[in-house]
Amino acid sequence: MSRPTSIGQRDAAVDVLIAGAGVMGAATAFWLTRLNRQLRVVLVERAPDFVQASSSLSASSIRQQFSSPVNIALSQFGVDFLRQADHWLGPGSQAALGLHEAGYLYLAGRDQAPALRDLHALQRSHGVEVALLETQALAQRFAWLQCEDISLGSLGLRGEGWFDGPGLHQRLLRAARQQGAELWHDEVLALQVRGRALESVALRQAGLLSPGLFVNAGGPWAARLSAPGAPPLPIEAGRRSVFVLSCPQPLPDCPLLIDTSGFWLRPEGRYLMTGREPIEQEPELPLEPDWREMDEAQWERLAHRIPALQALRVERAWAGYYEMNRFDHNAFIGPHPQLPAYAVISGFSGHGMQHAPGAALALAEWLLHGQPRSVDVRPLGLQRWLDGQPLREANVIG
Ligand SMILES: Cc1cc2nc3c(=O)[nH]c(=O)nc-3n(C[C@H](O)[C@H](O)[C@H](O)COP(=O)(O)OP(=O)(O)OC[C@H]3O[C@@H](n4cnc5c(N)ncnc54)[C@H](O)[C@@H]3O)c2cc1C
Repeated sequence: MSRPTSIGQRDAAVDVLIAGAGVMGAATAFWLTRLNRQLRVVLVERAPDFVQASSSLSASSIRQQFSSPVNIALSQFGVDFLRQADHWLGPGSQAALGLHEAGYLYLAGRDQAPALRDLHALQRSHGVEVALLETQALAQRFAWLQCEDISLGSLGLRGEGWFDGPGLHQRLLRAARQQGAELWHDEVLALQVRGRALESVALRQAGLLSPGLFVNAGGPWAARLSAPGAPPLPIEAGRRSVFVLSCPQPLPDCPLLIDTSGFWLRPEGRYLMTGREPIEQEPELPLEPDWREMDEAQWERLAHRIPALQALRVERAWAGYYEMNRFDHNAFIGPHPQLPAYAVISGFSGHGMQHAPGAALALAEWLLHGQPRSVDVRPLGLQRWLDGQPLREANVIG
């Protein structure tokens, strides 16, 4: 496999410099070094304990029920990758990274049902194994669910559930390093460009470098690493709180539930996890859970849908940042059309953990071969933003 021309021409010491070693940076380094062992790939990470990284604070669930075909394709790739985690990443303590394919269940009241039917048709046409269940069928299948005000449910039959996201991140990082990628504890401070060329990248410790390619995998902080001279990326750190509940009564075969009121809930071992749309939308709020999101009204919503939750107890809570793309709630993947040595893999808006393996492979192919091959992620390229043409994802959770 040959080196990309931009790399050869610059004769750079570092072929690809990736800012951020969260799951996106790690996955990009993994695929680049897997596709071309000759490349010198450097991951620059300012906080290698990852305590604030989304990849450590994720709810790590995977679904096929998206409204955009490209997101469905990325999830199809993602679930296959998780099922074969040991093949790709070498043996780990958890084969298939704890993938638990219990499905997602989207609930709809009478007004929401037509939209759910439309999404169902679109998803089926893209090979998603999903079933529509009407009130009675839902009540029969999930005896613990209160279905009186539910007209329709959309249940994923395969390829949906949850997994060990931080485990995926760590194993990608380890495999990338075993393949030769370097991890530097440093911070990218600034980029300099001249015309369409990337002149240099300034690091806090290492000083100025001239890599052949720069990849912005800065997650919630990606906007600060925007291409100089171009408008800043519309990506913000949007705080999301996750509450861990216990419930004395078991909920057999509980899938990841998306309620009509907007909350999500799923099992985690013998506990449950839940979250909802945040009350405060300001970017970069302190990483503390917003307890108002579990107020009395929220308890009522939970107990209304699952009467057993009248006896719920909140065991703990945490907060993490979604890397919210304010433009259209979808990722940016690919090189900058006006600055080919600068690429982005950020802005997944809360659904990136599941998409990291496919998105990063597609980006690596795009950078090395001139176009993505495994999943055509070009609809998620930066061009849509430059053109003011959003690709809206209807199914964004919380
Ligand atoms: C509460 C919550 C629930 C979620 N649930 C799901 C889910 O169910 N399913 C799903 O698929 N996804 C989910 N996500 C989203 C998913 O976790 C993210 O999409 C994914 O982890 C993003 O990875 P990342 O590598 O882009 O960002 P991060 O993991 O945040 O990594 C970015 C890294 O870049 C580093 N960095 C930033 N700037 C610089 C710089 N200038 N120099 C050096 N380093 C820098 C940071 O220190 C950080 O480590 C959830 C997220 C949260 C917070």
